[in-house]
Amino acid sequence: MSRPLRADIDLDALRHNYQLACELAPNSRSLAVIKADAYGHGAVACARALADLAPAFAVATIEEALALREGGITHPVVLLEGVFEASEYQLAAQHDFWCAIHSEWQLAALEAATLPGPISCWIKFDSGMHRLGFDAEQARAVKKRLVASGKAQDLHLMTHFATADSLTPDYFQHQMAAVEELAAELALPLCLANSPATLAWPQSHAAWNRPGIMLYGADPLEGANDASRRLKPVMTLSSAIIAVREIAIGEPVGYAGRFVATRPTRIGVVACGYGDGYDRHAVDGTPVLVDGQETVLAGKVSMDMLTVDITDLPEAGVGSRVVLWGEGLEVNRVAASCDTISYTLLTGILPRVPKHYH
Ligand code: PLP
Repeated sequence: MSRPLRADIDLDALRHNYQLACELAPNSRSLAVIKADAYGHGAVACARALADLAPAFAVATIEEALALREGGITHPVVLLEGVFEASEYQLAAQHDFWCAIHSEWQLAALEAATLPGPISCWIKFDSGMHRLGFDAEQARAVKKRLVASGKAQDLHLMTHFATADSLTPDYFQHQMAAVEELAAELALPLCLANSPATLAWPQSHAAWNRPGIMLYGADPLEGANDASRRLKPVMTLSSAIIAVREIAIGEPVGYAGRFVATRPTRIGVVACGYGDGYDRHAVDGTPVLVDGQETVLAGKVSMDMLTVDITDLPEAGVGSRVVLWGEGLEVNRVAASCDTISYTLLTGILPRVPKHYH
């Protein structure tokens, strides 16, 4: 028997979630954000599954973009952080990669480049995230220089929201006001909304949206809404119990003896650990499903195993199916028990976990 740990990727759910993003923003085109190996789901497989729906994809690095080309994806690909060195503009021009421009050095490198043709450029405006991008005054100058350079075409203006997931809209509105003011002046098509803005803030739906996490079925909102409740999980991480221990009252389980039995306890040992990408910060009480029934993690996560309390599941034993997240168990609930977010759990799945696409 091979090790039972696997990640099942439901490509119909991926398509459903992408279509939901489009339905919520009927006047926008949606870039499918598939950076970080499609948030751990496999970028080429996801791009192929979305190829007839999505007009373009978005990634973070040129290596990710080239991997899509090697996988036969011919769509335009946006480099969300633009190039990391000047030589990448050659590849961008050759492969129809659209480049964000967030810094003076990227602009200067483009002006200086000798290229086979112009590059589609997305000017990154810092409306309040204060991570990448130009302020309004710089953005005006960048547009002029790009036009004058003859190296750019199809200019867009993009910005990224810091708090679109929050129930309190003040800072989001502040960013919207800033970008709307600049957009009115620059008269460029806009690309604004990430997943939470796609789901919750229609006023941000522009020429292009950039949904990422919602495509994979994880709700990014602080409080779910009608739209986010329609998301379907794409990845189900599952394994099985490979051993069972009977633990007497007062006996510890696992590293550091963090879990101590307060009743006669049956522990199921599950083939999945932090060496697979399951978060070692998961606390006792983190939800897991055993044979479809909810129970909890009991003991620290090891590299190759974790331990769950099956005392109240008398039918459970060696071979019982364990769902770590996905169908029937929202990844957000597991993330909350690890003091993290769904993004880190999904992108954290390591290569030794085999993926099965359906
Ligand atoms: N746009 C940019 C610039 C990003 O960095 C990201 C993700 O980090 C996204 C869009 C997609 O965000 P989300 O996954 O929250 O939809």
